[in-house]
Amino acid sequence: MSTPVYLDNAATTPLDSRVLEAMLPHLGGRRGNASSLHASGAAALDAVEEARASVAAFMGAEPGEIFFTSGGTEADNIAVLGLAAASPENQHLVVSRIEHPAVRQAAEHLGRIGYEVSWIGVNEEGRVDPEEFAAALRPDTALAAVMWANNEVGTVQPVEELAVICEQRGVPLHVDAVQAAGRIRIDLGSVPIATLAISGHKLYGPQGVGALYVRRGVEVRPTVFGGGQEQGLRSGTHNVAGIAGLGEAARLAAEELDVRVAHEEALRDRILDGVCSIPGVRLNGHARERLSNNAHLYVEGVEAEGLVLLCDAIGFEIGSGSACASGGHKASSVLLAMGFDEQEAFSVVRVTVGKDTSEQEIDGFVEAFATAVARLRELSPLYAG
Ligand code: PLP
Repeated sequence: MSTPVYLDNAATTPLDSRVLEAMLPHLGGRRGNASSLHASGAAALDAVEEARASVAAFMGAEPGEIFFTSGGTEADNIAVLGLAAASPENQHLVVSRIEHPAVRQAAEHLGRIGYEVSWIGVNEEGRVDPEEFAAALRPDTALAAVMWANNEVGTVQPVEELAVICEQRGVPLHVDAVQAAGRIRIDLGSVPIATLAISGHKLYGPQGVGALYVRRGVEVRPTVFGGGQEQGLRSGTHNVAGIAGLGEAARLAAEELDVRVAHEEALRDRILDGVCSIPGVRLNGHARERLSNNAHLYVEGVEAEGLVLLCDAIGFEIGSGSACASGGHKASSVLLAMGFDEQEAFSVVRVTVGKDTSEQEIDGFVEAFATAVARLRELSPLYAG
């Protein structure tokens, strides 16, 4: 059987072979602990610091503002819980309704232990209204959190504007940039974001490694305790190979960003041209303010899981909603926040291209998708069209 066409790059991206090359010396042979004083330890520490410089350059930050973590989830948790812990006199949070569970559930946890959370809604395109956001900020707001781009529908938020509002009001803003990183150029020198999370495996880097940016002067209290690595903010022996991989992935992403985005946008639009002419198929999220690689589709009369499995059976791997949220059978809170009803929320699929996806693959997908939708509709008692 031939290799399936992978169109689920929002769930995880393939590991770039150049990234693997950068990791290999730290996986086999001589291996040091970056905290050890001997030469093997020093070599490991050099690799960690080189990666830190590369991740910092990737987002316009200083190396001392970058903290390595075990991924996007941990970076989000450290930021939300650690910013809250840094100002215990302030017991109020402002959080968008479309956050990834890594932020949403950390905020819900704070809600259970006495914080008040103001949840900020979105319009039908999935965008936060800056005026509504500004109105929710209070003198006792410990932090605000809005993701840069949504992992399900791909809508990009007006983060620069929200960051300025937060700065003026003296509230630290946490931004989950896990999906945006590598697709939107991030320059933290010119956007006053307090903390920002990225993840290696959405950037053609390894899984299980990420980074948290903490602006100099912003206090984030640790929530993980141990050997004091990462300036005491994230204790634990460094994942040297993973960190080296993230560093190389960030370096390549910075260098290739414009080419990757142009390539992805052309393929995404090729998908939309191909599938939106099928009756009852439409794009969800914002038409323009959206990630270069994301085509999130509502397919009337079709149950998403069936469509994903049928596409898989004929050689195309796509996502149903969000991989991180799948497994349970609950309607996506992002789609409900955008005004979908429960039934509509189960009729969506997420098709996400990558830097190595080809036009030929997209043309094959468009044809297969049309066939799969027609076949499922024939069987569906729900579809009258
Ligand atoms: N935030 C967003 C927006 C994501 O899409 C994901 C993963 O899908 C995460 C956070 C979690 O990152 P990780 O898988 O590295 O824990």
